[in-house]
Amino acid sequence: MPLMTTRPMFDLAYDGGFAVGAFNVNNMEITQGIVEACAAEKSPLILQISKGARKYANMRYLKHIIDAAVEDHPDLPIAIHLDHGDTIDLVKACLTDGFTSVMIDGSHHPYEENVRLTAEVVKTAHPAGVLVEAELGILGGIEEHVVGLKAEEYEKNVEKFLTDPSQAADFWKRTGVDSLAIAIGTSHGAYKFKHEAKLAMGRIEQTMKTCPGLPLVMHGSSSVPREFIDLINKYGGNMPNAMGVPEDQIHAAVTKYGVCKVNIDTDLRLALTAKIREVFATKPAEFDPRNYLGPGREAIIGMVRRKLHMLNSAGKAEAVIQQWQKLGKPLPIFYAKAGRV
Ligand SMILES: [Zn+2]
Repeated sequence: MPLMTTRPMFDLAYDGGFAVGAFNVNNMEITQGIVEACAAEKSPLILQISKGARKYANMRYLKHIIDAAVEDHPDLPIAIHLDHGDTIDLVKACLTDGFTSVMIDGSHHPYEENVRLTAEVVKTAHPAGVLVEAELGILGGIEEHVVGLKAEEYEKNVEKFLTDPSQAADFWKRTGVDSLAIAIGTSHGAYKFKHEAKLAMGRIEQTMKTCPGLPLVMHGSSSVPREFIDLINKYGGNMPNAMGVPEDQIHAAVTKYGVCKVNIDTDLRLALTAKIREVFATKPAEFDPRNYLGPGREAIIGMVRRKLHMLNSAGKAEAVIQQWQKLGKPLPIFYAKAGRV
């Protein structure tokens, strides 16, 4: 039952030329789609849950859906991660719920407050065997409660929002964080840019130098593929000017520059929405939810498989499990205590 922390994943991803996909889950179909795709591609994965998802689905339901996924795929390395945690209380709730990894996002606070909050979360999570991701620098776009900046404003001033590599070294030293989300010009949501995206790859390179051994994470990395926007618009949607990060740039950030984790949410939403819209438009008499949620789930499988190839993580499941066994199968204490391993 390889529910694990991200440690064995990042150990291999760090200089292995691949990144682990972190996919947001909100319900059964999305979870099944992601896990089916990773099983087909033999890829490690991170299932991530935001504060909004905990509220929407009720964490008790999500927990059992994820448990079922883990049980159903005993050969798949899976980590459960809190996406954009904002308070110590939320982190504590996730520890109790058996998460293996948490993010605390103090990036919108002044630097010293970000250091203080992150260090406190590390002190709380590490004794439970849970790893911590933090964020430094500011991303554009809007994601649930995470308010970034509008595309125009972000693009105009992007230099001053990017992660400062020497500050990252200071941040790492003072917080003891396990991985770091950096701002390199990516943006949350489906309306990331007015012009073509250009990632600041130099910031990844420099941060890898000032923080050797620290796994780096990319948020706001959906590509918003044109063909899905076109489908949505064709079948009655209205998403003009949606634009994301081209997949070849993410592939380069992973394979050439060493990013270890890439968050993907928007593209799964687009795939699901496009398919459901298509069913509604082409079969207007359809009213059985299984007949639109089912095809929606298939669309998620297709999108996730495409992402796993972009991240070069297909086929890496077995090596990650071997690394996990080599590390002595470390699992969060709370999870082990609950007798669920
Ligand atoms: Zn994010």
